[in-house]
Parts: sequence; C-alpha cells; structure tokens
Amino acid sequence: MQRESTKLTIKGFIRNSLLDWDGKIVSTLYTPNCNFRCPFCQNAELVLTPEKLETIPLEVIGEYLKNNKGWVDGVCITGGEPCMYKDLPEFIREIRKLNMLIKLDTNGGFPVLLQDIIEKKLVDYVALDIKAPLDLASYSKVVGVNNPKVLENVKDSIKLIMDSGIDYEFRTTVVPTLHEEKDIEQIAKFIKGAKKYALQNFSTQGEILDPKFKDIKPYHIEILYRIQRIVSVYVKKCVVRGS
Ligand code: SF4
Repeated sequence: MQRESTKLTIKGFIRNSLLDWDGKIVSTLYTPNCNFRCPFCQNAELVLTPEKLETIPLEVIGEYLKNNKGWVDGVCITGGEPCMYKDLPEFIREIRKLNMLIKLDTNGGFPVLLQDIIEKKLVDYVALDIKAPLDLASYSKVVGVNNPKVLENVKDSIKLIMDSGIDYEFRTTVVPTLHEEKDIEQIAKFIKGAKKYALQNFSTQGEILDPKFKDIKPYHIEILYRIQRIVSVYVKKCVVRGS
C-alpha cells in the first residue's frame, strides 16, 4: 500500500467538464495513487499502475487555464487521492494565481493536510466520499483496507468540514452487494445536518478495480430516489447522480 508521497504529478486532464462541480465548468486534474482499494473504483489504472499513464506537463495545464479564463470557472482536483501529496497546498497556490476556483475531491484519509488546506483558504469547495457506515467492519469491507486509524481519519475529516464554514458535499457511490438502504440511512444519520449529500449510482464504465464488479448491475435509479426520500430527513439537501 502506498503511503503519503511528496511529489504531486498529474496523470489525467479533462479540459472541460460539466459533471465534476454542480453548476460550474471545470478542468479536472487526476492525481495518481490512493490509500484505499475500493473494489468498485472506476480508476483502477490510476490507483494500481499509475506509472503506465502519461504525466501531463504542468505547463500544458497552465497554458490551457490561462487561455480559457472566463470560460472555465475553476479546477477540480481529484484522483486517486490528492491529499496523499504533501505539496498539494503549493500546487493549489499555483493554480489560484490564475484566478481559478478550486474544488478538491478526497476520501477523507488525510485530515491534517485537509485542515491545513481549509485553514489557508486554498479551496472553495470540498467533496468528501463517505464509502460506508462509519464502523470498522463496514468501512474496511468497502475500502479494502482494515485499519482503525483509517476510519478515525475519515471521521475527523467529516467533522472538520462540517465545522469549517467551507462549501462542501458528502457523497456515497451506492453499490449493490455493498450497500443497502439501511447503510445509506446510517451514513445520513452520522452526518445529520450536513449541507449536501449526493447519492451516486454505481457505474461499470471505466476500468473497475475488482473485475468481479464489472458484472454487478447498478441499482435502478428509482431505488436511489427512494433512498433520497429517506435520507432527506437528516440532511439539508440530498441529490441523486447517475442513471
Ligand atoms: S474509489 Fe476513490 S478512494 Fe476508492 S480506490 Fe478509487 S480513487 Fe481510491
């Protein structure tokens, strides 16, 4: 399992995305490596064999952002797990010089770095994945790592975000065989009062980390809408994504 690394590189660059930040056009940057091994992960190569992927020169990204200011609202930094990199704050500072809004996607595994980034007001929006109900057995099963510290880190990150005043969302990819209605309700109870909770339907597109999950049929979207009605009692806003 890979640990915190110091040198951030970019292994994927989507120039224009309407899907990565509700209501905004963003450029999306993918960092390699992850501390989790979610079997349903759609970025297997980025997580398992990132060395096979081309590194995107930062000049290419900077040039595009400079030339498309006004059209592109901001940058979404995703992965992999971006917070594995100690130089993430420095990297964000460079992008901010281009007057770009910044959204950070994280799995919540690195609360110390996350706190630093939030306190220094380097990001405008944080999306934190909550993978399962917040007990060790459930979490380990879904993230593929059995370590109580991991769960504590995720809980600390959740609390940090909710107390920070930053704009944010929590989100869960809802996967048949891993999640039932009651699991999502348990998560919603844990984040009671949260500003926004997104339920994302599992998809088999992309390179799935555990090939067995390629054969799992996603829930019918109506099931997610039913769960949405249940969890809306606990959070300020609940949205459903996917088809
Ligand atoms: S789904 Fe996210 S947290 Fe899980 S292995 Fe993939 S990149 Fe890591």
